[in-house]
Amino acid sequence: MNEYDSDRIRTALGAEATDDPKRADVIIVNTCAIRDKADQKAFSSLGKFKSIKAGNPEVIVGIAGCVAQLYGDSLLKKMPHLDFVLGPRAIPKLPEIISRINLDKIRAVETSHDIEELFNVEPYHRAGGVTAFVSVQQGCNKRCSYCIVPYVRGNEVNRPLEDIISETRSLVNKGVREITFIGQTVNSWKRSGYKFGDLLRAAGEIQNLGRIRFTTSYPRDITKRMIDAMKEVPQICPHIHLPVQSGSNNVLSKMQRTYTREWYIDTVKRLRDEVRDLAISTDIIVGFPGETDKDFEETMTLLEEIRFESVFSFIYSPRPGTPAAQIEGHTCVEKKDASARLARLQERQSNITFESNTNRVGMIEEVLVEGPSRKGTSFVTGRTAQNRITNFRGPRALTGNVVTVKITEGLQNSIRGELVV
Ligand code: SAH
Repeated sequence: MNEYDSDRIRTALGAEATDDPKRADVIIVNTCAIRDKADQKAFSSLGKFKSIKAGNPEVIVGIAGCVAQLYGDSLLKKMPHLDFVLGPRAIPKLPEIISRINLDKIRAVETSHDIEELFNVEPYHRAGGVTAFVSVQQGCNKRCSYCIVPYVRGNEVNRPLEDIISETRSLVNKGVREITFIGQTVNSWKRSGYKFGDLLRAAGEIQNLGRIRFTTSYPRDITKRMIDAMKEVPQICPHIHLPVQSGSNNVLSKMQRTYTREWYIDTVKRLRDEVRDLAISTDIIVGFPGETDKDFEETMTLLEEIRFESVFSFIYSPRPGTPAAQIEGHTCVEKKDASARLARLQERQSNITFESNTNRVGMIEEVLVEGPSRKGTSFVTGRTAQNRITNFRGPRALTGNVVTVKITEGLQNSIRGELVV
């Protein structure tokens, strides 16, 4: 989402990007507030531009994204070298803000959630890109007790189907072969009587679009219509990112996730029964307030029961304004215990991921080639339909093509193969 927004910022500015901040007329730090660490990173990057501003007062320095939204105009007081603060919904206002700063020499804050034409700035697209994101939704209507997203990105706004399809079509005309629909709870998308399954089907009608992905799915918003589309539209990749967050009903209830462990397991079973060769990845938070050893063990057994293809895991980070951060007298999990839990979980999962990668050896898979591999010049890299990074010997000219690869080796975070000709 942040990458997508950064590319929209680039379109909104209509300027050329430079890798050298000293050459820039405008420097914008686009930020994430999901965890404290992301938030701290934003401040340290901004700090780095202080000396550039001191050397060249003409340069405009701004902060964009969720940290900007969260702290608003207090950032201007905190950082005298900052010229503007721009919330994640306000990207369409950027040209106006820059010209105001240039003309009137005043600092600006734009954090309104009420921005018309929220979706009218499409992201900058790098020439030759094979894959691209398309935003279908902004904001979030869920209220997971730990999560800051609804407060900084606002309530859910769904983009019209025609706009999504037309952006996708134009990307395909520029050579994109795979699109990923993105939204905070992408599968809750609905608009003018259409539901998410209908959007997937509409994308399936686009000529020359090889692959369709989407992220992130909210478990309770999986519908039969969506599953049927995944079964019947061949371009939809057999992979779903389905955050579970915890394996303990106690914790799930405090997180306000609206499902139980048993319900989640049943749902995964149903998905696997219906969609052939489906890969499932997830997000897990450890150390949520009140999480006991027993609760954590339930997350560990869930790993065994589901055997996710991959897991992104995090230590709970209290976020300002969220209900979880306000639980009074809650039993906080000590940092060292949370770290130990995270390490155990990651260690176990990395074995499961390795085993699942190794199980692919001998299989024939379709890989969309994304470009040259970091492994060396005679290698290319791409992804299987299930989303495994795959490296194999082949010419760069294969970029943008779906090719057939025989898997020869499973590694920790990727697989290797050889081109079948
Ligand atoms: N709706 C988006 C949210 C992105 S945040 C999506 O589901 O993709 C991605 C992950 O960060 C969440 O699934 C959750 O596991 C984790 N996360 C969110 N808030 C957190 C917090 N306060 N502390 C730790 N991890 C958090």
